[in-house]
Amino acid sequence: MRNSVNATWVEVGPGEWSIGDLPYGVFSTGGNRHLGAAIGRWVLDLHRAANVGLFRGVVHPDVLMAGSLNPLLSLTPRHWDRVRERLNEILTDEAFRPRVTPLLVELEDIQLHLPWQVADFVDFYSSLQHAEHVGRLFRPDGDPLMPNWRHIPVGYHGRSGTVVVSGSEIKRPLGMIPTPEGLRYVPSQRLDIEVELGFVLGNPSEPGFPVSATDAASHVFGVVAVNDWSARDIQAFEYQPLGPFLGKSFATSVSAWVLPMAAIDGARRTPPPQSPPPPAHLAVAGHWGLDITLDAWLRREASPPLRLSTTNARTLYWTAPQQIAHLTSNGTPIRPGDLIATGTISGDEPSSYGSLLEITENGSRSIVVGGRESTYLEDGDEIVITAAADRRDGTSASLGEVRGRIV
Ligand code: MN
Repeated sequence: MRNSVNATWVEVGPGEWSIGDLPYGVFSTGGNRHLGAAIGRWVLDLHRAANVGLFRGVVHPDVLMAGSLNPLLSLTPRHWDRVRERLNEILTDEAFRPRVTPLLVELEDIQLHLPWQVADFVDFYSSLQHAEHVGRLFRPDGDPLMPNWRHIPVGYHGRSGTVVVSGSEIKRPLGMIPTPEGLRYVPSQRLDIEVELGFVLGNPSEPGFPVSATDAASHVFGVVAVNDWSARDIQAFEYQPLGPFLGKSFATSVSAWVLPMAAIDGARRTPPPQSPPPPAHLAVAGHWGLDITLDAWLRREASPPLRLSTTNARTLYWTAPQQIAHLTSNGTPIRPGDLIATGTISGDEPSSYGSLLEITENGSRSIVVGGRESTYLEDGDEIVITAAADRRDGTSASLGEVRGRIV
């Protein structure tokens, strides 16, 4: 498709979303929720654009007038491309300017909502560095990796109903936790973050028919930044033998904008080598190492924010098509609105660790913020994760931010 970066008639300032980005979000200005696409300091109201016929011949207007991305996710990449091509056309062709200008709403005047209804949520564990760090913390004498780790993308089924949009407050969870006085039902004292990337899926697949790693790309609509809040003390007591449960299911925050895959095409890189080679059904060609930098910040009271981590998704061992191929390998279908997250993204250096579990070595080293030493999150702490895809042409596409405050 045409993707001339500066060709839009909309004024785009530095650091603002360009015509090559066009992330989707759901917004309101006091009334109903409308689907929109962001450009510059504006959001184009797609509900109203569809209503006045600007997508005639592209998709049925109902698809863009539902107040959620799900109807669009139910369609195919051909439709996704056509909507994006049409957006490109009406935002670059001066002839559309008079009709489209009244449909632009200033970003500062809107309230953002969860952009899609999350169908199923799966969280993987695809960072080799993260898996090794955690393995060393909990099994210092053994192999840091479990025997399965290099053969399949390990993951678990999460709770889609507690996926919340950036800005939502996070209530500290209660759980069954061992204390010096014995096992008690008390608030978590080891509340943690997990810096992750999420893939929003669509183009549903048939039950009983695994999606091949080669076909998996046709089910990936876009990416979001994810903070997978985790209560380490609840998790530590409950997880054997069935895996994460309540320590992970109270809240997962996602960014309010879904950046389409087309916008990050230029951020594709060769992923890390895999040894041993993956089984044939998980083998994938193409550049699925995504050069997306994620920064995590901790804000406490009025103190300057502390940068906890700068990490990059291109370091992930298992890639999205492999995750999808594995997820569906038993015949489970993809539903429109499924969210798959990568798992905590950690690099080699401590400055790139994506969780406080690793940064504090499970609470044995403290961080200092707001003049106080701490290990895990305190009430009132706010975590902000920003993410941006670095394209080969030198431009970058922001995924916006995912923000959440502990109450
Ligand atoms: Mn996670």
